[in-house]
Amino acid sequence: MQIDNERFARQIMIKEIGEKGQEKLASARVFVAGAGGLGSPILTYLAAAGVGHLTILDGDTVSISNLNRQFLHFYKDIGREKTVSAAEKLTAFYPQLDIKPCTEYLTKDNAAELIDGHDLVVVALDNMESRYVLNDACHEKNIVMIEGAATGFSGTLTKIIPGKTPCYRCIYPERAEKPTPAKGVVGAIPGVIGSLEALEAVKHIVGMPSALIGKILYFNGRDMSFNTLELPNIGCDFCKKYRV
Ligand SMILES: [Zn+2]
Repeated sequence: MQIDNERFARQIMIKEIGEKGQEKLASARVFVAGAGGLGSPILTYLAAAGVGHLTILDGDTVSISNLNRQFLHFYKDIGREKTVSAAEKLTAFYPQLDIKPCTEYLTKDNAAELIDGHDLVVVALDNMESRYVLNDACHEKNIVMIEGAATGFSGTLTKIIPGKTPCYRCIYPERAEKPTPAKGVVGAIPGVIGSLEALEAVKHIVGMPSALIGKILYFNGRDMSFNTLELPNIGCDFCKKYRV
C-alpha cells in the first residue's frame, strides 16, 4: 500500500513511529471483535493511525439504545448490521483502508478460524462468554489480545500474550452463572477504554514496549483515577499448557 505521508505526518514525526512504524501499521492485519461502544473508538483510531487491514466482527444490528456510546452508528443506521454501518463510516474516513466486515457471533467452533492470519486481536465485546472463546482462540493461534471492558463509570485494560502473561481465564475464572442482563454505561467510558486499547494496539504494531504485561489497568471515572495492578503470575488449567 502506498503510504500518504501527508495524512500521517504528525505521527511519522514521532521518533518511536517514523516511516518504518507507519509501514508496519499499513501492513498490519488487526481483528476487532465488536463494533459497538468499545469498537467505535478502537476502529476509528486504528483507521486514523493508518492500520491497513481491519476485520470487524459483530453479529448484531444497531438499536436506538446503542447510540449513547456507539458513535460509528447514526440514527439512520438503526436496524442495519453494525459491521456494515461501521465499514461505511470507516471507508468514508479512510478510503485506502482494507475492511472485512464479518457479521457473525463468536463461537468456539468459528473463533480460531476467524482470527487466523491476523497480527493482533482487539477485544470490543460486551460479554464474558465471548471473551473466554476469544482468549482460547488467541492461545490456539498464538495471537496477542488487547483486552478492554467498560461498565458504569469504570473500565479495565490489559494485554494478554499467549504463554507469557496470565490469560483471561486466569484473571476472571469462569463461573457457572447465567449471563448478566445489560448493564448501564456512560458513553465516554468505552470512549476512554477503547481509545487506550487502540493506543496499545498501535504501540504493539510498531514494536513499542507495553506497561501492561502481567498487569491490569483500572480506570475509575468517578474520581478520575488510573491504577495499574500486578496480576498474580498463575497459569490456570487452560493456559498452563501454553506456558513457555
Ligand atoms: Zn490462564
